[in-house]
Amino acid sequence: MVHVPPKADPFVQRRLLDVARIDQATSAATHRRTSLPELALIAAGTARVDELRNNAVLAQTEIGDLDRAARKLDQEIDAVRARAKLDADRLAAGVAQAKDLENMQHEIVSLARRQATLEDEALELMETREVADTALAGTERELTIARAELEGAQQRRDAAFADIDDELQRCRAERRDLLDGMPADLAALYEQIRSRGRVAAAMLNGSRCEACRMDLDRSALGEIWASGVEDVVRCTECGAILIRS
Ligand SMILES: [Zn+2]
Repeated sequence: MVHVPPKADPFVQRRLLDVARIDQATSAATHRRTSLPELALIAAGTARVDELRNNAVLAQTEIGDLDRAARKLDQEIDAVRARAKLDADRLAAGVAQAKDLENMQHEIVSLARRQATLEDEALELMETREVADTALAGTERELTIARAELEGAQQRRDAAFADIDDELQRCRAERRDLLDGMPADLAALYEQIRSRGRVAAAMLNGSRCEACRMDLDRSALGEIWASGVEDVVRCTECGAILIRS
């Protein structure tokens, strides 16, 4: 099959510049969509919220452990006090034998020592719990701030996405309308060049192609100027359809 280059009314050819402009706007909008600064903020913010949430869970677990230890200690202190009271009551009642008396006095002394030790431990636990409480409150404050920042970034991203998607939809509709009114072979040629990721149509500005910004050589220019106005001509450097002014 012999390849016949398309021909088209120069005014129709000119409309390819509008299609190329729309395609560039589409590329820019698509790039903007994937490179929004909010996307990096959201990734970092999500990691930060996860980290703080884990820290809060760890702090809550530590506080739970401390409370359990404190309750156990309180029970031990109560038991020691009850035992000491029992001994004291028996001593006061004067019911003990001489040997028992000595044992009981020993026991009362050692119970008092034990009680003091347990109460010191309880105090230490209380101090540790205060430190843990303060740390948890700090983590929760940071978590609240980090969540609000993340939510803000997500809202800004969603708003930007909505704007960009509106623009992309307008571009698609405008492009379809422009190409619908063109000869099929010209539209197909444009799409074929475009599909290689290139600017598919541009002005020929003097000897310069506005798609690749290269100057065409004399023989290429001569051929272009010799061709008819309906002939579709292309850049010898980048392949773009060139629109002559
Ligand atoms: Zn070119």
